[in-house]
Amino acid sequence: MTARVLVVDELLPNLKLLEAKFSHEYMQVETATNGSDALAAIDADPPDIVLLDIIMPDMDGFEICERIKSRPETMHIPVVMVTALSDQADRVRGLEAGADDFLTKPVDDQMLFARVRSLVRLKMLMDEWRLRERTSESLAVLEGDATPALDSGKNARVLIVEDRELYAVQLADMLTADGHESTVIKRPEESIQELTAGRYDMIIVELRLKGHDALRLCASIRSIDAPRHVPILLLAEDDDSKRLAKAMDLGCNDYVLRPIDRDELLARCRTQVRRHRYQEKLRDNYKRSFEMALTDGLTGLYNRRYLEAHLHGLIQRITGGRRHLSVIMFDIDHFKKINDTHGHAAGDQVLQELCARVMKGVRNFDTVARYGGEEFVVVMPETDINVARTVAERLRNGVADRPFTVITADQKLNVTISIGVAEVDMSGGDTTVSLIHRADKALYAAKSAGRNRVICWKAD
Ligand code: GH3
Ligand code: MG
Ligand code: MG
Repeated sequence: MTARVLVVDELLPNLKLLEAKFSHEYMQVETATNGSDALAAIDADPPDIVLLDIIMPDMDGFEICERIKSRPETMHIPVVMVTALSDQADRVRGLEAGADDFLTKPVDDQMLFARVRSLVRLKMLMDEWRLRERTSESLAVLEGDATPALDSGKNARVLIVEDRELYAVQLADMLTADGHESTVIKRPEESIQELTAGRYDMIIVELRLKGHDALRLCASIRSIDAPRHVPILLLAEDDDSKRLAKAMDLGCNDYVLRPIDRDELLARCRTQVRRHRYQEKLRDNYKRSFEMALTDGLTGLYNRRYLEAHLHGLIQRITGGRRHLSVIMFDIDHFKKINDTHGHAAGDQVLQELCARVMKGVRNFDTVARYGGEEFVVVMPETDINVARTVAERLRNGVADRPFTVITADQKLNVTISIGVAEVDMSGGDTTVSLIHRADKALYAAKSAGRNRVICWKAD
C-alpha cells in the first residue's frame, strides 16, 4: 500500500528518522517543522495521514489536530500524535482533540506501521465515498452541500463482547457516561447474530476471551455483509502488542490497554463512532443519489436512463431467437387538455393514479418506466407479441374503464391512453434503439387511428 504521510516535528533528527522508516515501508513522506507549514501543506495537497509531535514553535500539536479535525474538508484525514509526553492527561487531551491515536516515544515500529496502515486503509475507503458524493453533487442529484456535519460521537449503540461479568459491568458503566447504550454478549459465538440483528455504532471486544480466539471473531465480523464497517475496539493487556498489530491488519480499528482509563476509553470511542457515522452518512447519500439518478420523483418509477440500460442488458441475453421480449409504449391522450382545464397539480395526480393502475396490471418481473413527460414504457421479458397485446389491452382497459378521482378537480376525469407494442427480433439484429423506435411508431399509429387503442408493430 502506498500512502502519503505528512510528518510534523520541530526537530530535524526526529523527522529524518521517521522519514527513513516510512520510506522503508514504501510510503511517501513529506515533512513540516511547525504548525502553520503543516496546515498549509495539508491544504495544498491533503496527505493520507498526519503524524504529529506536540511541542512545536508556533502552535502546539493539540491545536493543529483540532484545526484539522474541525474543518469539513480535512476532518477525515487521520492524525496520529507521536510524542515524548507520556502523561495520561496529555494522552486524553490529544484524543479529545480528535487524534486517531496517541503514541508515546520510543514507538514500537511494528505497532506504528500496523496503525498507520489501518488508518490509511480506512481513509482510502472514505475517499472513495467522498468522490462518489462529489460526482452526485456535480450531476446535481444531491442538492446543496451534502457533506456530513461533525458529529458528537456520543449516544451510540455499543456491543460489548466480554465473557467476564465484572469487566463487562465496569465497561458498560463507563460507556453510560457518554450516553452510550450498551449490550453485553458473554458468549462470543452469539455476537455475529446479534450484530446482524441490531444496528450498532461500535463493537468492543475483549482480546483475552476464555476459550475463544478474539482475532478470529474480529475477522469473521469483517467478512459478513451488514456490520462489516462497524468499528471494532479491543481491550488488551500491556504485553499483547504482537496480537494487537495483527488485529489492526485484520481490520480492527483501535484498542485500549488495561487498566482502562475511563476518559481515554470514551475519547477513543467517540473518535470511532464519529468516523463510523460520517461514513454511514456518505454511504446513505450515495444510495439516495443513486435512487434519484435512476428513478422518477413524481411516480417512483424507473426513469429513461435506467430503462435504456436495463433493456440493453435484456437484449444482450437473448440468444438464437429462442427467447421473447416485448415492449409496450403508451402515452396519455390529450393530456395537455387535462392540464389546461384542471391545472398542473391535477395532471400530476393523474400521472400517479395511472402509474398505480398500470403497476397492478403487470407481473413483478416486468419493468415499468416513465420514459418522458406522459409517456411510459413497460418491458416484458419472456413475452411474445401476442401475449404483449393482451397485456396492453388490459392496461388500456384498466385506465379507460373508470374515471380518475383527483382531489384538486371538482369532477372525475376520463382518461385514456394509446399504446404501441413491439417484440424484439434478433434476426434483424435488434437493438434498444430500434426496438423502442418500433414501439414508438406503433404508438403514433394508435394516435392517428383515433386514440384509446392498441397497435402492434411487426419488425421491418
Ligand atoms: P396526445 O393525445 O397527442 O398525446 O396529446 P397530448 O396533449 O397528450 O400531448 P402533448 O405532447 O401535446 O402534451 C403533453 C403534455 O404533458 C404537455 C406537458 O405539459 C404535460 N406534462 C408532461 N410532464 C408532465 C408532468 O410531470 N406533470 C403534468 N401535470 N403535466 C406534464
Ligand atoms: Mg399525450
Ligand atoms: Mg407525449
